[in-house]
Amino acid sequence: MRDLVPALEQRRQQHLYRQRQTLDSPQGVEICVDGEAFVSFCSNDYLGLASHPELVSALVEGAQRFGVGSGAAHLITGHSVAHQALEEELAEFTGQPRALLFSTGYMANLGVASALMGRGDTLVEDRLNHASLIDAAQLSGARLLRYRHNDMDSLQRRLAAAGQGEKLVAVDAVFSMDGDSAPLTAMQKHCREHAAWLLVDDAHGFGVLGEQGRGSFVDQLGQGADNTILMATLGKALGTFGAFVAGSDALVETLIQQARTYVYTTATPPALAWATRTALRLVREGDHLRAHLNDLIRHFRTGAEQLGLPLMDSATPIQPLLVGEAATALRLGAALRQQGILVGVIRPPTVPEGAARLRITLSAQHSPEQVDRLLDALDACYREVMHAAL
Ligand SMILES: *Cc1c(COP(=O)(O)O)cnc(C)c1O
Repeated sequence: MRDLVPALEQRRQQHLYRQRQTLDSPQGVEICVDGEAFVSFCSNDYLGLASHPELVSALVEGAQRFGVGSGAAHLITGHSVAHQALEEELAEFTGQPRALLFSTGYMANLGVASALMGRGDTLVEDRLNHASLIDAAQLSGARLLRYRHNDMDSLQRRLAAAGQGEKLVAVDAVFSMDGDSAPLTAMQKHCREHAAWLLVDDAHGFGVLGEQGRGSFVDQLGQGADNTILMATLGKALGTFGAFVAGSDALVETLIQQARTYVYTTATPPALAWATRTALRLVREGDHLRAHLNDLIRHFRTGAEQLGLPLMDSATPIQPLLVGEAATALRLGAALRQQGILVGVIRPPTVPEGAARLRITLSAQHSPEQVDRLLDALDACYREVMHAAL
């Protein structure tokens, strides 16, 4: 049995140690952390729904109707009319024949890859894909080939090299640490040519992008085709918890039979599914939220450009500022914190070595004045911290 302490200590010295902070307020843009008030730019609650009064009421109503625990897996007695209704509404909203709820996005990705792929098969993934898609490939036992970020020639070469066996291309529709989008239409063309599945992980697009917030998949691929698979999460823009996979009837039936992260786990509380139905209605009716969010994104980018900050190529609420070294990113995060501003400090291995960054996320709950506060704080800290690091 090895001593765990030296490795922890080494991690700390490399500025890679991760620590939790404890919220004593609801999730929102004004949060209280360890007794101190902050304006937060680091949640994935893009529409500000996580603490929405209508969602709170729906959850309470759901608990009164269905109790708290589901008590069993979906295939035993855990599947309630609330789950069923939500699946039908998600299928209709995304224009897919069927949808299937999973407990988390992480489990959904693992479930799809392990149900469809095995030894002798090949998963092809963008280098910047979310960890859950990389882990999904590993769990499936298939070979994993990675292509250069958003590079379609590189994707083509990997597909051509995949050989016999099933092929599945998996991609973040919106890259979680970069905020840019994958060219889904071009990817679908290549997947068709190589008879490959295309799994689109729309964790950050669903609820935010496209008409009525239907997401990147619907926006770029419409109804999709028999080789396309949509995965989206419910714990980000929808403000609740969980995830779903949508696609053909045969795909969903296969997942129900074969996805181990579906079969061997307790169903999420039915009250949560009940609340998510309300979240879906708020998303559908949320054009004003998305319009405000887009105004804030433009406002932030214009302001940051005027300050000469190194913006990344993102049109989404994820607006990272590349810093470089982990220690510098930590120092910049701490300096902003002193000004009452919280941002995500993202270090390796979540991002490549030397590409540590601030992950700034905007929410429809922010006011333009709060974005100005962020810009003022960046103006006060950015150059000073970067200069000191040279
Ligand atoms: C957050 C996220 C997931 C995981 O979803 P959870 O429901 O939080 O487990 C999967 N893929 C991407 C791209 C994500 O950002």
